[in-house]
Amino acid sequence: MPELRAGGHRLTVDHDLCSGSGRCRDIAPDLFVVRDDRSWIAEGAQVTDADEDLLRQVEAACPWFAVSYAPSAENV
Ligand code: SF4
Repeated sequence: MPELRAGGHRLTVDHDLCSGSGRCRDIAPDLFVVRDDRSWIAEGAQVTDADEDLLRQVEAACPWFAVSYAPSAENV
């Protein structure tokens, strides 16, 4: 499952749910790419606190609730 930890949060895309619709990429093209009918976190993507509103839009727009952006105890 693609994931990115940053800013005390964890961004994930659940490939068991993702249909490859591409809505996440359309909303946040710097953060998501679609490949092989699944969404992936773009290589080199950076997520900061300023992206929280954008990621909330992505979460709400994903038809299968595959995107999660949530606080994480771990941080890299
Ligand atoms: S919007 Fe959701 S279902 Fe569509 S590609 Fe993105 S993660 Fe997958």
